[in-house]
Amino acid sequence: MPHDNCDQCQEDYDFDGERDIAVLYLRDADCNHIEAHCPFCQSTARIYVEPEIFISLLGQVSFRTVRMYSDAPDDIKAGRRSLEAPQKDEPKALPPSGWVRTEDLPQIPRNWLTNLWDTFREFGGES
Ligand SMILES: [Zn+2]
Repeated sequence: MPHDNCDQCQEDYDFDGERDIAVLYLRDADCNHIEAHCPFCQSTARIYVEPEIFISLLGQVSFRTVRMYSDAPDDIKAGRRSLEAPQKDEPKALPPSGWVRTEDLPQIPRNWLTNLWDTFREFGGES
C-alpha cells in the first residue's frame, strides 16, 4: 500500500481513498498532487506526485474523490516551483506545503494506462 510519513507528526500512514483526494491537472501534469490527511494529527499535506507515479497510485488506491482540472491555479504552481527551486530571488516565497514523491511504485498494466490517457484527452477536448 502506498504511504507517506506525516511532515507534522512523522507518523507513517497509508493513502486512504476514502479520506484523501487525488487532484489532476491536464495541462500542468507536474502539479498533480494528493491532498493527504494524516489520521494521527489530522494535518493535511499536499503531496506532489510525478505523472507516472500518479497514474500508478490511481491504480492502487481507490480514491473516492478525484478532481480533474485543465490548468493548475497559480498558488499550486508556485507551491510546486518552490519545491524545485527554493529561495533564490524570492526568499519569502510560499513555504513548501508538500514534497515530491520520486520513488518507484509497482507498474500497472499498460492497456489500463492507455485507456486512462484516452479518457484524459477526451476530457481535454483534444483529439
Ligand atoms: Zn500527522
